[in-house]
Amino acid sequence: MGCTRQQLNEFFDDLLTPQRFNDYCPNGLQVEGAFDLQHLVTGVTASQALIEAARDRGADAILVHHGYFWRSESPCITGMKATRLRALMTDDINLFAYHLPLDCHPVHGNNAALGRLMGIEAPEPLDPEDPGTPVFWGRLEESVTVQGLADRLGVALDRTPLVIGEGDVRSVAWCTGAGQGYIDLAAEAGTDVYVTGEVSEQTVHVARERGIAFIGAGHHATERYGVQAVGSLAARALGLSHEFIDIDNPA
Ligand SMILES: [Zn+2]
Repeated sequence: MGCTRQQLNEFFDDLLTPQRFNDYCPNGLQVEGAFDLQHLVTGVTASQALIEAARDRGADAILVHHGYFWRSESPCITGMKATRLRALMTDDINLFAYHLPLDCHPVHGNNAALGRLMGIEAPEPLDPEDPGTPVFWGRLEESVTVQGLADRLGVALDRTPLVIGEGDVRSVAWCTGAGQGYIDLAAEAGTDVYVTGEVSEQTVHVARERGIAFIGAGHHATERYGVQAVGSLAARALGLSHEFIDIDNPA
């Protein structure tokens, strides 16, 4: 049982089609480790805590949503980044990272999963012409109050969301993670409420002044689902064992 590094890489690429995205980081194999793979660990962020937990479970590959080498960061391998890379390389652990492709997959992505948690069975991209804008939308079967929708998310995600606005909502736009900058897009589309992971000071003013309700449900909390779905699929297809490790993050 098990597979090669290249087989796992091809499985992820075939499913997630990273070539369709102009992303802020490289998608795919970011750090090369062992050739033969048995155990895959998935997690939200390739933090030191995740690497150490994966090593303790005997992982030879890690799949994350937040990897390394972001466009905005220094390319130098120093400090925290050097410590993380050393830990991966010392134990021959492969690091696979997919960012926008994991947000946007229509069935297994973070956004599709968050839509289902809210009770929306057929989420659609808000702008189908632009695969790089990870905002989805859909309609709830019945209208609920903003607080009712926030409570539903609070139970599903196991944390208390931040809520701006009140009244009934039915059409919902959402973007997992740090999607607060897309609230204008959601308001222009005429949706009743916008749901994302993070909030900025200005988000509250935009919500109040444009008359759209807002729910901030947690960056980490809303992005736990894509890696789990894709990791399970890969493990089943390629004969790997798989586990998701949640290194909790209140942000
Ligand atoms: Zn994120």
